[in-house]
Amino acid sequence: MERRQFLLSATGWGATKLIGMGGMVAVARAASGTANVDFDPAFQSWTLQNDVFRAVLRLNQSTGQLQLEELRDLSNNDFWRLPSLAGSFPIDVELDDGTRLSVESRFLLTGQSTTAIDRNGRALTLELSEEGSPLKLTVEFQIFPGQPVLRHQVTITNRLGVTVNVRKANFLAWQFADEGQKFTAYAVHQWVLVPREANFDPVETPLVAGAPAWSVTTGSGGAYCAWLAVRDSQQRGLFAGLEFNGRADFSVRQANGRITLGAEVKSLYHPLRPGEAMVLPAAMIGLFRGDWDEAGYRTQRYVEAAVAAVVPDNNFPYVAWDSWGYLEEINEDVLRRNARIAANLGMELFIVDLGWANALGDWTPDPDKFPNGFRALSDFVHDLGMKFGLHFAFSEADPDSPVLQSNPDWTSSETYNFHGGLSLCLGHQPCRDWIIEQGVNLVRNYRVDWILQDGQTLVKQCTKTTHTHHPENSNWANSEQGLDVIVSEIRRRTGVLWENCANGGSMMTYKMARNYVTSITNDASGSLGSRQGAYGATFPFPPRFSDRYMPDQDLNVYTTRSFMFGGPWIFMNRLPELTPADLALALREIGIYKSIRTNVRDGRVSHLTARPALGQVDALQSYTASGDTALAVVTREEARSNSYTLRFRDLTPTRSYLVRFETSPARFILTGAQLMNVGVVVPLPDQQSAEIVYVEPAP
Ligand SMILES: [Zn+2]
Repeated sequence: MERRQFLLSATGWGATKLIGMGGMVAVARAASGTANVDFDPAFQSWTLQNDVFRAVLRLNQSTGQLQLEELRDLSNNDFWRLPSLAGSFPIDVELDDGTRLSVESRFLLTGQSTTAIDRNGRALTLELSEEGSPLKLTVEFQIFPGQPVLRHQVTITNRLGVTVNVRKANFLAWQFADEGQKFTAYAVHQWVLVPREANFDPVETPLVAGAPAWSVTTGSGGAYCAWLAVRDSQQRGLFAGLEFNGRADFSVRQANGRITLGAEVKSLYHPLRPGEAMVLPAAMIGLFRGDWDEAGYRTQRYVEAAVAAVVPDNNFPYVAWDSWGYLEEINEDVLRRNARIAANLGMELFIVDLGWANALGDWTPDPDKFPNGFRALSDFVHDLGMKFGLHFAFSEADPDSPVLQSNPDWTSSETYNFHGGLSLCLGHQPCRDWIIEQGVNLVRNYRVDWILQDGQTLVKQCTKTTHTHHPENSNWANSEQGLDVIVSEIRRRTGVLWENCANGGSMMTYKMARNYVTSITNDASGSLGSRQGAYGATFPFPPRFSDRYMPDQDLNVYTTRSFMFGGPWIFMNRLPELTPADLALALREIGIYKSIRTNVRDGRVSHLTARPALGQVDALQSYTASGDTALAVVTREEARSNSYTLRFRDLTPTRSYLVRFETSPARFILTGAQLMNVGVVVPLPDQQSAEIVYVEPAP
């Protein structure tokens, strides 16, 4: 992160716009596109403000508590404030000797600074210490222009001469006054197979005041995406998200006049040696007013503006081909024949899936399959104008692979049976460092543009006493010190793009979004499953984080359009076996996808129907404010009627729009009010049919 740093004294900041009458501070209205931090020395308070949002923090001089006084949406004046007779502090951390840092702690401010950060953001850093506590705290708050979101990250440093052990870390502990309202909470499952299958199913739960917290497990192998939203009956809402790939208990509770959030790292035992620091996961909290689509939209725009790995180019999300249609029966000849056709169809990324290497953990291309060398294949793909992608299951190794022959102790104590491999402990430092070297060499030697990560539950469980991590600290060591370091280090050294697959989309976190350009949603579960995955994932994540793999099956527009919303769109068809009619259809449908993908990527998603299901019609809309245009992908899944009356959202009621269809030749001129209230009839002639409806201002 490139930072220009401005150091502040503890009593004031020259650039702060202060009008010093009795400690009153007039905060200059932030111009559009800016984010400011102002400090009021008399009240010991800080105001973080952009054009739409304000957060006020204060160090209470009588109690020594650092508190979040207020979050305010400046566009509608909705606010969330400190509960009465209670504090609001970002974390709750406990050491094994009983030392606790929480809302009850009494702090001394030992330093503060404000810095300009990447993406036009602004950060406020406070250095805090508590008398008698072995820990020093560094609390960083960030805001970004136009985003009604406060991000925080806390670092704890051991200032004793002996090791202390962190046993508990809740890294999102804010609480707010409930203002006597009733609340509903919303969360979205990940791709889960056990104990029962879930495919990004959203779950809405009313909060019962005084009842136990509603708690969901997030992170690698957890049941839910790392996102929660709550709103009251006045449509005033909060959303929150976690930047943590390990497992956490993410909760919300209403009790004692408060809404309390929590995000607790599971099974933590983190030794901090003298002088050592532990950077807790970052988290966000943001404001919305309206429905869950609005919560999702605010979240997605913030994630794109401030968190996610940047979109690589304006052709993203790509159309891609992946070799899994051949399972592991791939070779140079098969891949070259597919690559030629893929390029002719306009595909942009060519991924060689599992089966290219000698074995799991032996990341050398199989010389029998690639007699001319793997680099020759990569060059061939590049010469056809496509990016070269490679499957890399770096957390698994065959029992007979050289790495496990030389280092039999590198396995994690729990193994996950990925294609006959044993699992490696990514939290064991020599193993982690070996994987980084393997990845860097692969990318450099074979000019790899794209890594398709794979493996069974990327954050392993390991209780070995022979590893560099503490035996009870597996969750933290395998995520923060293992997986995250591997991905970010290989990316930093090579610039390769990374796709998340962790046994499908089962590590849907904002830490993932930070390191990866996309994520698989579900793992090849057909057309209906594809749409169900995209439906749920496009609440917490921008549409480009919903890639899907289209299985080898007959091509028709029902199938192709089931993969079109979001992306990347990944074909697994055996291309040389397609008929000329199939190829013509694929070419046409890829053209359609390319014409809509950036609008969907950058637009506002509306879930116009219930979740896709058998016997129903489902529809997702994308609205682009700049041109006041909308499109909707509408699919009939064996519903009775051969048409559907589709009601759009977000349009200008008084404006006239031209309505046209991708398949039907019909055209209409209708007002926004008509389109939103009465709707437009979409022909869906077959039991399984799909149509795309376009709405644009009438000429
Ligand atoms: Zn281990």
